[in-house]
Amino acid sequence: MKALAIEDNVMLAQSIKDYLKPSWLVDTTESGEEGIELAKSHEYDAIILDLGLPGMDGQDVCTTLRKADITTPIIVLSGMSETDTKVLLLNKGADDYLTKPFKSNELQARLNALVRRGPQKGKSPVILKIDNLTLDPQKREVRRASKKIDLRRKEFDILEYLMRNQGKVVSRPMIISQVWDAYTETWNSTVDVHIKYLRDKIDKPFKRKLIKTAHGVGYTIHK
Ligand code: CA
Repeated sequence: MKALAIEDNVMLAQSIKDYLKPSWLVDTTESGEEGIELAKSHEYDAIILDLGLPGMDGQDVCTTLRKADITTPIIVLSGMSETDTKVLLLNKGADDYLTKPFKSNELQARLNALVRRGPQKGKSPVILKIDNLTLDPQKREVRRASKKIDLRRKEFDILEYLMRNQGKVVSRPMIISQVWDAYTETWNSTVDVHIKYLRDKIDKPFKRKLIKTAHGVGYTIHK
């Protein structure tokens, strides 16, 4: 799963990124304006939004995102604990609220709850399934014909993205924007290499091949 953290405290942003690493890929930015651009151009499962930002503050970021029809769940981080602010933010479209300082496991639990509850746009996880292939985004577990398959991180993330968009063609740049962080330079050929590994594990041993190449465009997964 992929999150965006809009937080001007660089150390806090880094510690969030590190803590969530086993199950979340986190893009970070210190600026509300840049956060909005990232949220518009990438597909995130959740947004972690600091309230006190230099320039555009968290409340305005939240309002702007919702006005732009970005329905990704937002969890707001703030030093303020007043109920008024909390209510105000929830009215502005935030989904949850965490008062600083907070424990990392608290943030993770809240994020998981948000994703389980399902983002408003309906790309919620539960267990993704195509034919006899299943992927559990929470446990990060993949099975085909009930047999557990070990995937590397990027392989898993690519498969999850394909399965969330089953039947649709996803281009290599779309895969890159979803699976690699926004600041890593990644080539289309890198995607092809990961797809090859993925196919070796989930398709090669089975008769029915699920990952299909859309020539000149990208990939798709369907029965
Ligand atoms: Ca701040």
